[in-house]
Amino acid sequence: MQIEKVETFPLLYKLSKPYGDANGFKKYRTCFLLRITTKSGIEGWGECIDWLPTLDKGFHDRIIPFLIGKQATDRTKLVKIIKKWHQRAAAGVSMALTEIVAKKARLSICDLWGGKWHDTIPVYASFQSYSDEVNWQENSLRLIEKFISEGFSQVKLKIGGKTIQEDQQHINTVQAYFQGKISMALDANQSYDVAAARQWQPLFAEWDNLAWFEEPMPMSRTEEYKFLRQTLSVPIAGGENLSSAEQFLPMFMENAIDIVQPDTMHQDGIDGYRESLQLARQFGLRVSPHAFDGGLTRLYALFAQACLVPWSKMEGEPIEPVEWDVMENPFTNIISIRPSNGQVKVPSGVGLGVDIDLDMMEAFRWNGMTYI
Ligand code: MG
Repeated sequence: MQIEKVETFPLLYKLSKPYGDANGFKKYRTCFLLRITTKSGIEGWGECIDWLPTLDKGFHDRIIPFLIGKQATDRTKLVKIIKKWHQRAAAGVSMALTEIVAKKARLSICDLWGGKWHDTIPVYASFQSYSDEVNWQENSLRLIEKFISEGFSQVKLKIGGKTIQEDQQHINTVQAYFQGKISMALDANQSYDVAAARQWQPLFAEWDNLAWFEEPMPMSRTEEYKFLRQTLSVPIAGGENLSSAEQFLPMFMENAIDIVQPDTMHQDGIDGYRESLQLARQFGLRVSPHAFDGGLTRLYALFAQACLVPWSKMEGEPIEPVEWDVMENPFTNIISIRPSNGQVKVPSGVGLGVDIDLDMMEAFRWNGMTYI
């Protein structure tokens, strides 16, 4: 199980039109895949996210020389060292090493982790609501309509990037158009304070289809989240940028959050990610993973969700949904998994159980240019 080779695949795609959230507009989407091969020829794939020049230099100058010759089975030890240099790179390495062990054992990732509780996982269509066009609200509505017609029944929309009045006009229009028949989450990307967040409560009181209010404020404001949770009539969600179970702990201890949203790319490796899920369950909390940056890491979120015990014994609430990026982004198709009626069947083959689209990797290969 000695590591013989580590290859990297940095991919870049320029969007035809920028889109964005309260943090600004995206002009590019990127993807950084890695393939680790052992001396005996077993391959494992991983994925991570950051500015491509940073990842490229970090892997070639430090991480790859470190990994060569090490044992693939020493995953948690290797990841602990790499995360000191680059935490998000370590997450990708942990995925590749996990797949190698699963393939060696001739098991699926889920079976390696103790087996599936759920064969299918619900997914919600995740939108970046803003564009730089005057008619952004109309464009947003048309895009939502398209994906609802394709079978999604749950959506997440962005707020916090415009005035509260403009955002409320947008969301009110969507609500009126679908007559409250779709489940909707609103994500402010940590752009509000308590007073601004509370300006939504009169609308929340009218709606019965709101799944959650995501990250109204910076996640460090535990006390203010606790206060909001007690005064708003909808569940509060967050945590996509937290990197460990330990970082979630203050929120859990203070009863400051309803729905926990770790991201497989942002946590301390896939093992650290699963620790966060388990800790949330120990506190009796729901988990709806954040998964916006890549198809392979989203697959790992689906695997982990499939292996998670149900949060409730209530009928009709089997497992919480995983985020599904529906914006223009070719890299979400790097593996051939598509939702049907808002559900995804979890692969059960050996290792990942799906193939990576190698042609796409050639087509979008980053040429080393700097981009902003
Ligand atoms: Mg979010």
